[in-house]
Amino acid sequence: MDIAIKEATKGMRKGEGGPFGAIIVKNGKIIACAHNTVLKSKDPTAHAEVNAIRKASKKLKRFDLSDCEIYTSCEPCPMCFSAIHWARIPKIYYAATISDAKKAGFNELEISSEKMKSEGKSKVQLIKVNSCSSCTAPFNEFVKKNGKRY
Ligand SMILES: [Zn+2]
Repeated sequence: MDIAIKEATKGMRKGEGGPFGAIIVKNGKIIACAHNTVLKSKDPTAHAEVNAIRKASKKLKRFDLSDCEIYTSCEPCPMCFSAIHWARIPKIYYAATISDAKKAGFNELEISSEKMKSEGKSKVQLIKVNSCSSCTAPFNEFVKKNGKRY
């Protein structure tokens, strides 16, 4: 999770996008590491999780990532939750929550991953990493940033 959080901070400092990072792990090895690049790529769908899924799928040459897990610095938004569903990733570890992102000023849809899971009858495992002291660190740095863009 520390790596996903570091990636979130890196992307924000480079001005490529919001403070969000994600990694995809297969057999204990990182196969994709990505951050939000909405600003850099001028692509509103370039969220960290989507970017990580694209990288992992390209690397494995398949869309089915059912043997992988995703670690994301923030609870997936409904779009990313859906992308994770379509990629068949069975386990999501997340640090900050959608309400933390909202508090930092992001225009979040207020639909939690738990709600997406229950409404969509998804079998995905959602694991909130509570022991993470730096869960909201990227957001805390972002709100103090000069010239920040959402
Ligand atoms: Zn998202």
